[in-house]
Amino acid sequence: MTHQPDDTIRPRRLADFIGQDEMRANLKVYLGSALERGKALDHTLFYGPPGLGKTTLAQIMAAELGVNLVTTSGPVLERGGDLAAILTNLGRHDILFIDEIHRMPPAVEEILYPALEDFKLDLIIGQGPGARTVKIDLEPFTLVGATTRIGLLTSPLRDRFGVIFRLDFYSSPQLADIVTRGARILGVNLTPQAALEIGKRSRGTPRIAGRLLRRVRDFAVVSGREIIDEELAREALSRMDVDPHGLDQMDRKILSCLIEQFGGGPVGVKTLAVACSEEVRTLEDIYEPFLIQCGLIKRTPRGRVATAKAHLHLKSQPLS
Ligand code: ADP
Repeated sequence: MTHQPDDTIRPRRLADFIGQDEMRANLKVYLGSALERGKALDHTLFYGPPGLGKTTLAQIMAAELGVNLVTTSGPVLERGGDLAAILTNLGRHDILFIDEIHRMPPAVEEILYPALEDFKLDLIIGQGPGARTVKIDLEPFTLVGATTRIGLLTSPLRDRFGVIFRLDFYSSPQLADIVTRGARILGVNLTPQAALEIGKRSRGTPRIAGRLLRRVRDFAVVSGREIIDEELAREALSRMDVDPHGLDQMDRKILSCLIEQFGGGPVGVKTLAVACSEEVRTLEDIYEPFLIQCGLIKRTPRGRVATAKAHLHLKSQPLS
């Protein structure tokens, strides 16, 4: 895997993982029990918007259990053979992490079912009447799946997860803690008020908090400031076009399209995506969940609708 900037401040152990308290407490129990019993942990699914910690949790689980982590993703697994090769190489109790698991092709999913249930692979050798099935035993392993769209998972696949966790957006104080921890690791000097200011503008998302922290640091470095205070954070964030509510340029473009071109809706998501020059999937996975959470748009059977709050927001923070 390539080294992402995120990796430096990525929590390595469960104790360093901030927020999602209920999930964390339960996960701790399941990990402890698996270790105590000397068994592989049940297959686990994490779902929720991008950047909330699904990959991080898979890595933490492997670290806590002291096993290897093998990482792949739904769209990468094109053929059954791709998955079979990975499965047969897994060691005892290893974790297989499949990101974007809702995008796995059906033929690959079929291979996964017996592997998940009995740790067996049914391989078909040859074609036509001469074809035969060979069963291969696998080591007991744990599948950790991540998805932004649980609704797109087939029910047989969903049913094979013993543990399902939903990740929610983080609160501003939690994000401030994540920023403070990140600053400590990066050797950046930042006041608690500045951390909260960055936290408030991170769209409820740790990945964004990390990114904003790095960019605010850049502004501080270039302007020769040793300590990042609230004022510097605010100034840097508005120069990055992040408004005081944490909405970025694209969030405001979506609101502005919805209100100005479609009279506030309802409008279908495809039409809205075209008007904003954005992909439907990006709109649905990244932008909508946060705008809905903020009470700025609503999903109705007839399409997306801008709320009164959205009208007010756009008036106070017009699109530049
Ligand atoms: P996802 O897989 O859900 O898209 P990631 O696990 O890649 O998200 O998380 C993105 C980044 O956000 C991580 O690299 C990590 O630095 C940070 N992060 C995520 N969750 C937390 C958390 N609870 N505490 C601290 N940092 C976090």
